[in-house]
Amino acid sequence: MAITDSDPTALVDKAETLIRDNTFLEFRLDYLPRPALALPKIKQLMEYNPHLMAIATCRRASNGGKFQGSVASQLDILGKASASGCQLLDIELQSASKCKPEQLQRLRGRSAVILSYHDFHATRNLEGTLEKMADIPADFYKIVGTATTLYDNVTMMKFLEQNGDRRSLIGLCMGEQGIISRLLAVRAGSAFTFASVSPDEKTAPGQMTAQELRSTYRIDQVDAATRVYGVAGDPVAHSLSPAIMNAALRRENVNGVYLPLHAKTLKDLLSCVRDIPIHGLSITMPYKEAVLKHLDNTDSHTTKIGACNTVVRAQDGKLYGFNTDAAGIVCPLEQRITIEKSKILVLGAGGAARAAVFGLKERGAEVYILNRTAGPAQKLSHQARARIAKRADMKKLSFDVIINATPVGMGTSRESPLKENEINTKILFEMIYDPAETQLMKLAKERGAEVIPGIEMFVHQAARQFEIWTGKPAPWGDMMRVVTVALQERALARHAKDGKK
Ligand code: NAP
Repeated sequence: MAITDSDPTALVDKAETLIRDNTFLEFRLDYLPRPALALPKIKQLMEYNPHLMAIATCRRASNGGKFQGSVASQLDILGKASASGCQLLDIELQSASKCKPEQLQRLRGRSAVILSYHDFHATRNLEGTLEKMADIPADFYKIVGTATTLYDNVTMMKFLEQNGDRRSLIGLCMGEQGIISRLLAVRAGSAFTFASVSPDEKTAPGQMTAQELRSTYRIDQVDAATRVYGVAGDPVAHSLSPAIMNAALRRENVNGVYLPLHAKTLKDLLSCVRDIPIHGLSITMPYKEAVLKHLDNTDSHTTKIGACNTVVRAQDGKLYGFNTDAAGIVCPLEQRITIEKSKILVLGAGGAARAAVFGLKERGAEVYILNRTAGPAQKLSHQARARIAKRADMKKLSFDVIINATPVGMGTSRESPLKENEINTKILFEMIYDPAETQLMKLAKERGAEVIPGIEMFVHQAARQFEIWTGKPAPWGDMMRVVTVALQERALARHAKDGKK
């Protein structure tokens, strides 16, 4: 766990509070205006806590750190950190190249040396860099790239696998697209990885907190047999799927980890699926339709909908596509009404609306479609043999269920796709789950309708994915709890931010 602070006492106090749960710390001395001032305090801390393992890092500004001093003063600080009990010292290749061999040898007298190299732009020439580094004797060779594609993670892992038996390596990729390397590189041979204390104290882009790595992703249990799953899309940073799926995997004792896969192209994603290998994918915007032609097979239901949100990589390596959005709509409704012969209006004619319309038609509902643009609605009504509703008739029409499959009302928007006097229904099913209560839901409640929130669809479609991948019944209650809490935390954070403004 990398610890930073601009005050030496606060740095060591922070370390002290973390020691109970974290016995391996990195002191980022370069974050201190005068790093040497922290060393007596660190010495005391190390003496009182003999089980503590500490890395001292004083990275120079020219190499991506914050230390403004010369290489000679960097060496001096690292030497003193060694005398203070830090068992590992990090020195960049660029600094080490300017030192005399005996200076570095002296550092290794009492502590182990990590020779490090950070590329803040790309993940490239890893073998060449290691070759250059190997001229300098060190105990660990740390090579950190920046992922600009998902495949950069694969490149890093292959490098670790191929070179890990000759040297003690530490490797990972920085950046949001490199998140998967922070978990999987350890399995590929990286001696360890780095985590932050909190989201505001990251020492590198894409770094996760120790809490996330341990609790959400269970890094301590990731091994060669761990199956890898993930949510793929662009963007995915705010997806709730990692929280819900990792909770389900943990609950059902599945040796699996579920990761956010920020794929800027489908080609990049698909090459990773085969090379990592990834066992299952949740597909989100904008790839739900485009992914279909890359799959080896899809069920007829998914082909009809024309969108896939679930991919399974079978043992033969083939990719199979499913759509669980329809289950996400049908299951919550079946718990409340008999769908057959129910009169149901779907607002929208995009991917989610298509899943709803086909899913409900299969169960014998009388389905109407109302969309902003006529073309997609007509196409869908023709394909699914559903009816078209006109906005002008909405005040007169009444339904058993109205489903909102448009994004109107998402986030901080207070818009509603229908006016209050157009909401004539027994049940209102909102697909949006953030915010937990949209304007449409409020209006429907005022009109006396029962409301199904989007979170139910989200959990049901995720539960079905879990069942397809693992063959086990999904822990529905736990999944619901995790998403509810995550959404509440998000709403609170938004509230606090608005308050600050
Ligand atoms: P999509 O394929 O982009 O379709 C969006 C639909 O909404 C289109 O029919 C579009 O009409 C309509 N629309 C967009 N902006 C509109 C506006 N300002 N006024 C009126 N209509 C508008 O999106 P999608 O994948 O179907 O997703 C739709 C919604 O469902 C999103 O909010 C998504 O978050 C939600 N969803 C929720 C879950 C869940 O698990 N709860 C799962 C999937 C989707 P045009 O044809 O006129 O453009």
